[in-house]
Amino acid sequence: MEICKDGAVKAIGTPDGEELKLINALSRRELEAGEVYTFALRLCDNEMDRDFERFSDETLDQLAPMFVGASGVFDHQWSARGQTARIYRAQVVEDGSLTRDGRPCRWLKGWAYMMRTAENAGLIAEIDGGIKREVSVGCAVERVVCSVCGQELDACPHEKGESCGGQVCCGVLTGAQDVYEWSFVAVPAQRKAGVVKSAGGHMEDEARLGRRYLKSLRDEMVRLAGIAEPEAGHALMKQVAGRLDEQELLGLIKLYRGRAGQALGAGVQLSYGREEAAPEPADGAFLI
Ligand SMILES: [Zn+2]
Repeated sequence: MEICKDGAVKAIGTPDGEELKLINALSRRELEAGEVYTFALRLCDNEMDRDFERFSDETLDQLAPMFVGASGVFDHQWSARGQTARIYRAQVVEDGSLTRDGRPCRWLKGWAYMMRTAENAGLIAEIDGGIKREVSVGCAVERVVCSVCGQELDACPHEKGESCGGQVCCGVLTGAQDVYEWSFVAVPAQRKAGVVKSAGGHMEDEARLGRRYLKSLRDEMVRLAGIAEPEAGHALMKQVAGRLDEQELLGLIKLYRGRAGQALGAGVQLSYGREEAAPEPADGAFLI
C-alpha cells in the first residue's frame, strides 16, 4: 500500500565535514562543501493525521534508513528545469513533546542536499527564506492496522475516525516496505495528502516511478520517433506513448535512438559538438 504524507522543510546551508562525507557517499564525484546546499526535512511522524492514520513507532525506525538516497523533486515551477535534491541522512527524533493522544511524539528527520548551481539559486533562496516549507513523501507499508483492536483495519468492525472506548480509531501504518520520491509542494492546496491506495499492478508502478519520470520517457520517445519516423506524425506518436508503460517506452527509446542516429548522420556529430561546448551539467548522481 502506498502512503503519501506531508512534512516540513528547514534550511541549514553549507555542510560540515561529517555531513559532507555522507553526501559524498552518495554522489558520483567528490563534492566540496561550497558546492553543496543542505536543508532538513520533517518527513513524517507518529501523530494521527487528517486521514486518521499514523505511522507506528517501529515503522518510523524502519523507514529511516530507507529514505537515505531518496530523491526529491520540486513543484511545477522548478521541476521543468530538472531540479532535484537527495536525502543523505535520516533519523528518528524525539523532542519531548507528546502526540494529541498523549504518546511521546517521534518524527523522522531527513537531511537533504542539492547542488549550488545557477539554476538552483532561486530555489535555495526560497528555502532559506522559508517559502518552500511543505514536503510530500511517498512510501509503501505492509498493512494498516486498527489502533483499537490491532487487527487489519479492513477486517475489523471499527471505522477510522470513530470514537471507541474513549479513543479515536485510526489506521496504524505498519511494516515499512519501500520509499519513493518525495517532493516539495509550495501551495498547501496542492498537497497530496492521505493514503493512496493502489488498485492494481499498473497503477502501483505508475505511482512508484512517478508521473514525471514516465512523462519524461514519453516525451523522449515522441521526440526520437519524430526524427526516426517522421511520417508517423507527432499527434499519433504522442497518443501511442501515453499508453505505454516504462519497459515499452525504454524499448522504443532504444530502438528510435538507434534509428534517429542513422537518420541524422552528420547532424548527430554537430549536436554532440554543441553539447560539449555547453556548461557542464550538475552532478550526475543527482538526477533521478
Ligand atoms: Zn478494530
